[in-house]
Amino acid sequence: MGKRGRIRGIVRDALDFILEVSKSYHPHEFIGLLSADGDVISDVILLPGMLSSDRNASIRMDMMPLGISYVGSVHNHPHPGSGAARPSTQDLFIFARTGNCHIITFHPYDSDCWRCYDSRGEERELKILED
Ligand code: ZN
Repeated sequence: MGKRGRIRGIVRDALDFILEVSKSYHPHEFIGLLSADGDVISDVILLPGMLSSDRNASIRMDMMPLGISYVGSVHNHPHPGSGAARPSTQDLFIFARTGNCHIITFHPYDSDCWRCYDSRGEERELKILED
């Protein structure tokens, strides 16, 4: 199950990987889980087969991998506009069940094309750590 630690940041390599994966899936969506080393997000577990259309990636909760510790989720929004990174209703459903740190990336996936949210969908700060 996800743990509810207070995450303070993400290692740059993990964030770069997230943005690269976002680009490679575009215009489709992907979903992954974020795992942490202590209080820092250090790894991404992609969930292949759980993405569906080009509009809405979906996690089937009964297909969540067992025995993996994670602190949150990540997915991309291929169709930007105003509020490109705003969580959808479905996102909020997932956020509430998969930890307290959720990254949404959005096209064109530049270094600043991402936001982080807590389990309630409130935007939260996430430091980038150079380790
Ligand atoms: Zn979304």
